[in-house]
Amino acid sequence: MPAGRDTRRADLVADCSRCAAICCVATAFDASEDFAIAKPAGVACPNLAASHRCAIHGELAARGFGGCVAFECYGAGPRLARALVAPGPRRDAAFRALVVVHELLWLLTEAAKLRADPPPDADLGAAIAAEIAALDAIAAGPIAALARVDLAARDRSARALARRVGDELATAASAALRRRRGA
Ligand code: SF4
Repeated sequence: MPAGRDTRRADLVADCSRCAAICCVATAFDASEDFAIAKPAGVACPNLAASHRCAIHGELAARGFGGCVAFECYGAGPRLARALVAPGPRRDAAFRALVVVHELLWLLTEAAKLRADPPPDADLGAAIAAEIAALDAIAAGPIAALARVDLAARDRSARALARRVGDELATAASAALRRRRGA
């Protein structure tokens, strides 16, 4: 996204300059149209330089790594880099969990912005705020605790709230359309 256009919460923005290429080690990918090679989780990509920078960064898509261009950590990498966790399986697992938590935080913080002011359903606003607070507590909590988080349950809960926002917006749009038509 071009600089200056991203209105996401600052800690939910990927920033490779504040990371240590954790995604290039922690994630797995299969050889496909998105990745020129296959790589298991926990093994450094052969294109990763000793400087923790991608050696083919300027030509990722042309070299068959469009999946790397599309990948979004939602700020999970910089958060983990700040925590100074030593490289290894523990950091890799924490990264994969944090990506999920940060993506859900992004989903809910952005969904909340789309709601009308004042929002029609105060209970929904409270539920979103509670879920964001819970996710923030997980993200800011001990790295070791991430392994005990039920990510599937958190995912279901956050996405259900986001769907309610979508339903709310659809209802509001339908009502506005009816008013314009004088119905
Ligand atoms: S190609 Fe570059 S960006 Fe993609 S995983 Fe390998 S080192 Fe990282």
